[in-house]
Amino acid sequence: MRGVEEIPAPVGDPLPLPLQIFASRDHFSKIAGFNGAQINASRGCNGSCTYCNYSTLKRLEYREAKELKMSITAKKNCNIGRSKIRNVNTVCDEISQLWHEQKVRYFSFIDKQLLPDNQNSAIDFLDSLKSGIETRGVKNFRYGLILRGENLTEKIIDKAAETGLVNCFVNIGFGTQDEGLLFKRKIDHEIILKMINHLNNMGVATEAKLIFIHPYSTLNSIKKALLLLKFINHTSLELTSMRVLYKTTLYNNLKREGRLIGNPFGYSYIFEDKQVERFSKIFSKLRDDAFKNFALSSKIKNLFINIAMGQTLFGDKKVKWIELELKILQKNLNRLYIDVFEEALNIVQNSSEEKELEKLIYFAKCKSGNLLSKIQELELLVEHSVNKQQEKSNELLIKNYSFVSTYKNPVVNNF
Ligand code: SF4
Repeated sequence: MRGVEEIPAPVGDPLPLPLQIFASRDHFSKIAGFNGAQINASRGCNGSCTYCNYSTLKRLEYREAKELKMSITAKKNCNIGRSKIRNVNTVCDEISQLWHEQKVRYFSFIDKQLLPDNQNSAIDFLDSLKSGIETRGVKNFRYGLILRGENLTEKIIDKAAETGLVNCFVNIGFGTQDEGLLFKRKIDHEIILKMINHLNNMGVATEAKLIFIHPYSTLNSIKKALLLLKFINHTSLELTSMRVLYKTTLYNNLKREGRLIGNPFGYSYIFEDKQVERFSKIFSKLRDDAFKNFALSSKIKNLFINIAMGQTLFGDKKVKWIELELKILQKNLNRLYIDVFEEALNIVQNSSEEKELEKLIYFAKCKSGNLLSKIQELELLVEHSVNKQQEKSNELLIKNYSFVSTYKNPVVNNF
């Protein structure tokens, strides 16, 4: 498919039929009491990461173009191998329709790469989006984006914040440059850290994702990733283990190495290093049992979005102190992840006792349970403060609120 608003067609088809229909939606999420909707303004990604199905599709596109003996110009005209962005006017039409007819006030762009790589083109796109929706009578436009950290610049962030960005999902990639090279993923930690801080300064809530475990992980790469996480502040962390997707370069490599296991419903891999394999199993257990798949991180990020929406749409400044409490919780939660995974690494290297691991999982469950109840208290407060603006009940809740940030320096070894 060459464009987002075209029906599927061979990559070299000169006249694909344009489709200009919007997805019908019968359900909206609620953010600060307002309707929120997902929106998709592009397809594909310009990256070439070897584990990703987007780059696999890109490869197939190139192959089809080669079979069709397309010239370089024809390939360029058909935008082969590049992400495809919808015409900004149709995106604005869709936003306008949702804003006026469905009262949607928060738009979550789900595109892997909505903004062009180039800074000027990214700023031009954001300018066109802003003027397009303003001429359609849309006010107080608020939105969220997925961004590749290494493509961000302060100017892009400033422009995005000016156009209403309140939430950003930042892909960090890997813990080391070497892992990036291995999977053809550009990594620049210095820029990413700087940009996360800048997003925070501009009042944009962020969630940062790091691929923590993969088929070529070593104890050293895991250690380095944990070290990197200690320098990342003001964001909700999410750590993942790499999944193997059908027919990706990673899939082919693992198959060739005899390490691929599973079936089309779910592939996995055998680790070369048995200690890494043990760590990976503990990671999954901690992630699922104790950290509920990083749901606490998402809850904190959602609260930040609610506060940002509430403040900008209601002009309600009363929630400022909640924001400060939330920042402490976010810091403590991130620190808990790091401490627990460091201790897991320590156990894997120095002990074969399964009891040690059970104790660690129990500890992590208790600590994240405590943090969850604090988060839930803040959720209640935000609901009352931002959505209802019920000053009296808010004051009552504040009075009864007994938050003490006890979790300052968790020393896992002492539990
Ligand atoms: S940057 Fe993300 S979406 Fe793009 S190819 Fe890499 S993994 Fe896929």
